[in-house]
Amino acid sequence: MNLLNMAPDRSLGVLADFADRNGLDSYRTDQIHRWLWRRPVDSWSDASNIPAGTAEILNAEFALPRLELVSRQESSDGTTKFLWGLHDGERVESVLIPEGRRRTLCISSQVGCAFGCVFCATGTMGLIRNLDPWEIAGQVRELLVQGAARPSNIVFMGMGEPLHNWESVDTALSIFNARLGFGIGARSITVSTVGLVPRLADLAARPEQFGLAISLHAPTTAKRRRLLPVERKYPIPDLLKALQQFKRRVTFEYVMIDGVNDLDEDARDLAEIARPLGAMVNLIPLHPGGAADYSGSSTSRRRDFAKILTSFGVKAIVRRSRGLDIAAACGQLRVSLERDGHIGAE
Ligand code: SF4
Repeated sequence: MNLLNMAPDRSLGVLADFADRNGLDSYRTDQIHRWLWRRPVDSWSDASNIPAGTAEILNAEFALPRLELVSRQESSDGTTKFLWGLHDGERVESVLIPEGRRRTLCISSQVGCAFGCVFCATGTMGLIRNLDPWEIAGQVRELLVQGAARPSNIVFMGMGEPLHNWESVDTALSIFNARLGFGIGARSITVSTVGLVPRLADLAARPEQFGLAISLHAPTTAKRRRLLPVERKYPIPDLLKALQQFKRRVTFEYVMIDGVNDLDEDARDLAEIARPLGAMVNLIPLHPGGAADYSGSSTSRRRDFAKILTSFGVKAIVRRSRGLDIAAACGQLRVSLERDGHIGAE
């Protein structure tokens, strides 16, 4: 049985039953559970306060599967990208972005992605498969097993569309947030989505204050259709309606593309959408690697665009490019390794 695939309160229940069956004192349940997420170990035999005999039974009953670190690349700005190998030979990546006291880990939720946003490297792969909860949470667990510090923030902005794999993401959110899991505050965990309207209700139904980022990238249906095929299914008016059920602040992610979505009128249209929701806008530089041959807007254009938003009372942040020299946009490490023939050539 894989305890790492369960929300922490459920795995605690399974371990309570295990303790009972094996005649262990009840305090042992929490002691054992601690080694799943709070002080993760490679094997139960490495858990210092568990007797060898108990560790042996635990090893036989509850495997602790691992992700394999295939490569680790550190950018000149400190951004570090990890490529993880999965048991079936697939690969996903995480990107760790240090910024002052924050250590944000950008994680993947699927191998590939079905949504084909034209500027995104992962979108060129199509969906290969969903990740299981333990494979999502494992991207943090691996860092801890290897002795790194716990990330302060989690963003679902790696490979995949998290709401398209809601069942696993739902459990992974509990693992990240629960006191018995990694204990990362809900406000420090952000789900980023292209806006799958029916699934937004599932996220809104969770009582925790998880952050929500919407990959908007264009302020009108006509423009968004050119960039995000999902707009045909869930157009902006439906999306805005669904966002009204969130009692927390929404962020709009906006990749700025030269001459496509960065005009003055785009800023005004965007302000009209963002202001009533009290949404904040992140203006993101375009990273190379998507299906379409676009150029990113200049830094001065991004600043001017932000000024227009601000003049309408909308908070806008011009984001710097992080990890450009190691292609740290979503899905790009795997895609670049594939192009070089590393993946599948082994
Ligand atoms: S931007 Fe996100 S939803 Fe769009 S193709 Fe890339 S991974 Fe998928």
